[in-house]
Amino acid sequence: MFPRSFDYMAPATLDEAVSALSGTGFAKVMSGGMSIIPLMKLRLLSPDLVVDIGRISGLDSISDKGDHVSIGALVRHHETAGSGVVPDALRTAAGWTGDVQVRNRGTTCGAIAHGDLAADQPAAVLALGATMMVMGPKGMREISADDFFVDTLTTALEPDEILTEIRIPKSGGGSAYDKLGRRGGHTDYAVAGAAAWVARSNGSVSDCRVALTGVGAKPTLASAAGEALVGTDGSAKAIEAAAAKAADGLTVLEDLYGSVEYKTHLAKVFTKRALTKALAF
Ligand SMILES: Cc1cc2nc3c(=O)[nH]c(=O)nc-3n(C[C@H](O)[C@H](O)[C@H](O)COP(=O)(O)OP(=O)(O)OC[C@H]3O[C@@H](n4cnc5c(N)ncnc54)[C@H](O)[C@@H]3O)c2cc1C
Repeated sequence: MFPRSFDYMAPATLDEAVSALSGTGFAKVMSGGMSIIPLMKLRLLSPDLVVDIGRISGLDSISDKGDHVSIGALVRHHETAGSGVVPDALRTAAGWTGDVQVRNRGTTCGAIAHGDLAADQPAAVLALGATMMVMGPKGMREISADDFFVDTLTTALEPDEILTEIRIPKSGGGSAYDKLGRRGGHTDYAVAGAAAWVARSNGSVSDCRVALTGVGAKPTLASAAGEALVGTDGSAKAIEAAAAKAADGLTVLEDLYGSVEYKTHLAKVFTKRALTKALAF
């Protein structure tokens, strides 16, 4: 199906893009176009204006800034997946996002801004405690990953704001991501999956964050599991006990791919796998 007619612009600067978004009518940002174009063709989304940020310079790199890793708005999934400075959880999640074509066009920031409840990279940035750098009419603001994902396909971004960069703290420790894809293995959106970040100090787990995808209405922190591992020796027994709490306190939702019971089971299975891999680094 063809999309409804719309205006298109490709500004050269962030200021121009923000002012276009702040104008009259329903305007949407486009980065890789891998989610917005299908939605427009299905007429589930019909903006009056598409603001393509693809020609704005300075947004296309990954860099090590000392205390954090910066991922610009135009960094593609395959670049995130192949980076030597991006933590393993996010590298893996980016490498398992869609197919080769999607990974060559879609952007990590676009996947975060889209906020699909079954997407891969949102869970990873949540587990890694990332910060979103957002540009709007009043300038830049920071949104923590904990506050960013609000509901299904809904984030804390205002309609006239652009996610310009993701900052991932270099907190040490290990991280990992694992999922069951909708077509089995790691292909396609997650039926369910988990990302974990774990830090150790003096032989015990000093900090831990676990985030789930495909389990609730949005990418969600599994706080009970993370807290249960802190203070333990990180042994297989401690991981098993923490993973058993993966869905504690969360609202697990049934969908076309699984019942509440199945999703709860998968949350535990993938939390255990992600924690085991994160602790192996
Ligand atoms: C065939 C196919 C398979 C896929 N499989 C998977 C999968 O297995 N796992 C997975 O996680 N995803 C999957 N996706 C989605 C894919 O990862 C998209 O690339 C991603 O969701 C959106 O990134 P994008 O850069 O293409 O964003 P776009 O499509 O350009 O935009 C998506 C949404 O985010 C907003 N947006 C984009 N960038 C910004 C920004 N910088 N600031 C503010 N708002 C912004 C847009 O306004 C729009 O609402 C798949 C997509 C396709 C087409």
